[in-house]
Amino acid sequence: MSKEHYVVIGNGPAGHHAAFTLREKAGEDARVTLINGHEGGSYRPHLLPEFISGDISEEALYVSPLSDYGEKGIKLRAAQQVVALDPKERFVIFDHKEILSYTGAVIAVGGRPRIPEPLLAFEELMTTLKTLEDAMVWIRRLAVVDSVLMIGGDLTSLALTRALLKLNKHVVFMLNEDAFWPLRCDEALFDAVGERLTAEGVEVIDHGRIKGMTRRSEDLYDVTIGDRRLEVGMIGAFFGLRPDIRFLSKSGLRMERGVLVDEYLATGFEGLYAAGDCAQVYHPGIRDYWVSIGHDNAAALGRIAALNLLGCRVPAKVSATSIFDVQGVKANTSWWTEF
Ligand SMILES: Cc1cc2nc3c(=O)[nH]c(=O)nc-3n(C[C@H](O)[C@H](O)[C@H](O)COP(=O)(O)OP(=O)(O)OC[C@H]3O[C@@H](n4cnc5c(N)ncnc54)[C@H](O)[C@@H]3O)c2cc1C
Repeated sequence: MSKEHYVVIGNGPAGHHAAFTLREKAGEDARVTLINGHEGGSYRPHLLPEFISGDISEEALYVSPLSDYGEKGIKLRAAQQVVALDPKERFVIFDHKEILSYTGAVIAVGGRPRIPEPLLAFEELMTTLKTLEDAMVWIRRLAVVDSVLMIGGDLTSLALTRALLKLNKHVVFMLNEDAFWPLRCDEALFDAVGERLTAEGVEVIDHGRIKGMTRRSEDLYDVTIGDRRLEVGMIGAFFGLRPDIRFLSKSGLRMERGVLVDEYLATGFEGLYAAGDCAQVYHPGIRDYWVSIGHDNAAALGRIAALNLLGCRVPAKVSATSIFDVQGVKANTSWWTEF
């Protein structure tokens, strides 16, 4: 029996494609374990706004039925959180203290919502949208509130704004310098999006600065933006995603914004790769690392990491011209949503 045990941490687009590629290409005797912090199988985060607006069912979010994992010979460990990884001894530790050894692994833990420093004091009052659980919170709250203040924003916020308008909510959108992260936001884009949002019926506040935020009741918030005081039922915060790699802090892996990997997605530790939103990938052309953003990038990187873990030499090919600088971070996105 093969001693190979491949472990994929994370079942978003990167992890899903890594695990299914490993299953397909590794020998039948190899074991493949897919660890997933959330309940259930892999779902498509980019469809969450349409789920919130009621356009699609929860079932339609999922990439494949749960039975697929067992039938294809992938052991899915759902709702289990990895809290540490030892890349030298090759094992992971779960929050329930179990230790799981691997011969090869792919880290594909994605990102978590980013809240800029000045707004951290109000973090508890703001709702983000990253997971299915977050979407459930939006659905529950939107059943009883009529108005939403969207601050930030990022590409997610535009998709969610569309969903809110469909639900006939009054949307106030506070555009600030972080708007449209990770895209560069110059004045022309700022104006164009402001005009577009206004035409769609959104109340736009330009260059605003939050001075205060308080909760009067479960469904009523006071927000002071500059000299203006607003009453809204809900506040959404949208400033992009940041790699969720806190659990690796003592691992010895090289990390900056994400896990640093070479163009083959290798971490530098034998048998250990990283892919998707959590990775920062070296680009020999620009001699720097780029951050991946978007579903298609994540899925492609997941496949590449799996192939290289199995001994191939597939580089993460990205044209240097598609990498751009955003607030000091080099980024590459497969994602642009028209509003
Ligand atoms: C609302 C929304 C709308 C979007 N719209 C688009 C769009 O229109 N087009 C587009 O291209 N992209 C879109 N994106 C971005 C896209 O979804 C991400 O780029 C993509 O999901 C990244 O995939 P990933 O596999 O790297 O990470 P993720 O999708 O973040 O998956 C990470 C996985 O890791 C698991 N995990 C995390 N930490 C641990 C741990 N410690 N232990 C075990 N498991 C763990 C999580 O449970 C999750 O399963 C959107 C994102 C959101 C949230």
